[in-house]
Amino acid sequence: MSTVVQKYGGTSVSTIDKIKFIAKLLAKRKKAGDNLVVVVSAMGNTTDKLIELANNVSTNPSKRELDMLLSTGEQITSALLAMTLKDIGYDAIALTGFQAGIKTEDKHTRASILDIEINKVKNHLKEDKIVIVAGFQGIDKNGNITTLGRGGSDTTAVALAAKLNCPCEIYTDVEGIYGVDPKIYPNAKKLDYISYDEMLEMASLGAKVIETRAVELASKYKVPIYIALNTGSVSGTYIKELDESMEEKVITGLTTSDDDLMVTINNVLYDIKNICYIFNRLAEMDINIDMISQTAPIYGYVNISFTAPKDSKNLILKLVDELKAKMKDIEIDIQENITKISVVGLGMRTQSGVAAKLFKIFSDNNIQFKQVTTSEIRISYTINTKDKEKAVFKIAEEFNI
Ligand code: ADP
Ligand code: ASP
Ligand code: MG
Repeated sequence: MSTVVQKYGGTSVSTIDKIKFIAKLLAKRKKAGDNLVVVVSAMGNTTDKLIELANNVSTNPSKRELDMLLSTGEQITSALLAMTLKDIGYDAIALTGFQAGIKTEDKHTRASILDIEINKVKNHLKEDKIVIVAGFQGIDKNGNITTLGRGGSDTTAVALAAKLNCPCEIYTDVEGIYGVDPKIYPNAKKLDYISYDEMLEMASLGAKVIETRAVELASKYKVPIYIALNTGSVSGTYIKELDESMEEKVITGLTTSDDDLMVTINNVLYDIKNICYIFNRLAEMDINIDMISQTAPIYGYVNISFTAPKDSKNLILKLVDELKAKMKDIEIDIQENITKISVVGLGMRTQSGVAAKLFKIFSDNNIQFKQVTTSEIRISYTINTKDKEKAVFKIAEEFNI
């Protein structure tokens, strides 16, 4: 008998009919002889609705209580799915993160999993039960319920698979992983497989099809992941270590993210102490900055730009006031209508000319970019959001992704 962890996301369990449909799929798989651990998300947009409820009673909801509230979303789905399975004659048990032994850091709303007391799940499997685990949650050392951050049910599933030393299947509302989000570029091509490294870059750069930390864990513990449509009727995409026989594409995928804003500080007196001060303060304020650029000094002054998450805007405004008081000549500009567009591919390690091709596409289509950063297998640009669609279509067509 082999064991498998499956995960069903919010859209796959958004209605009672869908839960009944998933229960039938699970019954079929169980009958075929597999041990099943099933991780579920909250139904549809339940998590968003719960956040809205919290915002109705408080302008700054306590993070501990927010975790209490948000964790209920996945608990509802797990209980309903277990009840449905029992009703059609299959023994099942629904577990909260705590009951499944998932131990996390004591960091509310974005805790990392520290360990899983996996015997709890194993004992239920031994009793031949289908084990349904509420995703996205765990318990800290003080016994408080924690959640793992948005999209965290993927992480729950991969962590359980790592502990059970078995594969992980993630079922969602698209047929697999595409070169580009098919909702943005309908001609996108579905991939048969993708390496952990490429998927990690794509997830962290905005491809929300799987949560970044889930890919990190899978890569670390070599958990094979299969992502497919929730009907199980068409073949999906494997995320795994590539062996030498597999083709390394120059560009495997393209991602976009509108989550960042760009801050430019003009007229900074060119002294490393000033630059050091700015970035130290950003670090002290826990502002997660990404792309950084600096102009060459002109008459002893430089301009510095960086991107940071839009939700850190209030902190940035606070820092702006602080900097203005300290550095009299500076002028600060914050642009919110920017998009980070990135291309990712293992083949970039060995093939040159990708940046040149991208510059040509931008030039031919009159797309101005503001910043560029590269890693061994990725190139990212910040562009104006108004140019996003044009840039996606032109790059996807050129690289056939
Ligand atoms: P779930 O609720 O199942 O966790 P998500 O909404 O988190 O589903 O993730 C699935 C969505 O990810 C798809 O509907 C798709 O729009 C989006 N997505 C983004 N990038 C990609 C990509 N490269 N390939 C496939 N889907 C993608
Ligand atoms: N329900 C949570 C969310 O919406 C976790 C998840 O779906 O993975 O972010
Ligand atoms: Mg998701």
